[in-house]
Amino acid sequence: MLALRDVTVRYGDATAVDDVSLDLASGQVLAVLGPSGCGKSTLLRAVAGLEPLESGSICWDGEDLAGTPTHKRGFALMFQDGQLFAHLTVARNVAYALRLRRTPAARVAARVRELLDLVGLSGYDDRLPGTLSGGERQRVALARALAVEPRLILLDEPLSALDATLRERLAGDLRSILHAAGTTALLVTHDHEEAFALADRLAVMRGGRVVQQGAIDEVWREPVDEETALFLGYARVLRDAAARRVLDAAALPPAYAVALRRSALVVDDEGPLRAVVESARVTPELVRLVVGAEGVGSVDAVAPLGGRVAPGDEVSLRVDVTRLAVLAITP
Ligand code: ADP
Repeated sequence: MLALRDVTVRYGDATAVDDVSLDLASGQVLAVLGPSGCGKSTLLRAVAGLEPLESGSICWDGEDLAGTPTHKRGFALMFQDGQLFAHLTVARNVAYALRLRRTPAARVAARVRELLDLVGLSGYDDRLPGTLSGGERQRVALARALAVEPRLILLDEPLSALDATLRERLAGDLRSILHAAGTTALLVTHDHEEAFALADRLAVMRGGRVVQQGAIDEVWREPVDEETALFLGYARVLRDAAARRVLDAAALPPAYAVALRRSALVVDDEGPLRAVVESARVTPELVRLVVGAEGVGSVDAVAPLGGRVAPGDEVSLRVDVTRLAVLAITP
């Protein structure tokens, strides 16, 4: 188990990682989610042993890693672009670390087969990285990282170099591969979709600090503040009277703010909120609206396809409580 206690990393006068404490249990995937420049890569590099700590400690199974160099930590790193050896075949790439360790050839061949099977690339042994798609290259990179059975795998935005469709597909695969291999993983990303797709637990980082951590659904349901809610993908945060109006319509107790997904308000003849449609846009799944809602103001809403909602129409809205988060603590 990985335990970070009060970890601080400085570059000169600048504090990149500020007093961070985190725990990661064996077999779990933890995503550190934060905007660019918040210090997440620095944190990952510190865990890898590539950045010295100003203060604090990083322990594995209770043992302080301060004196353990990178290559003795038993951790594997995987970056955004996979960084495969372009002149080596897929099999050679995957086998690289095993060969360095002088693993017997028969054992290497068996392990390569097993890993390529795990990442869904059986039969790709003799291909060169240049002939693979972005997603296939990332799978090879993952197989290579898993080859030496690392006790922890460190992932730096593993999907962000891929296009949206591929990212979604590979995210599901990556998650099941990590679980199937029983790998403990620490992932850093600025992309909440990537974090949600891959991780069990989430730590939200801002300005070098961890502002919230917990199980994914916990953090999702109860973001600590407005900025965190927006970073987690909520479209709007309503405060005060507007928040109370929506919460009342949802039969929830009042709170100072509520964060809404774009689909939190749904056109429904029985709904308790009155609104006037300002704009409507058809998407493959539903109609996305902007509405002026009574006592709330201009907000996003959705209507089922084929409902014929047009700008200027008066509609009723219900609140989908699974698509909102109540911000309970006044800042
Ligand atoms: P993130 O991965 O969240 O984008 P980083 O960990 O890369 O953030 O950077 C955190 C802060 O530390 C930034 O302000 C960045 O400019 C600074 N920083 C990162 N690496 C170095 C370095 N090698 N030397 C000096 N400053 C650095």
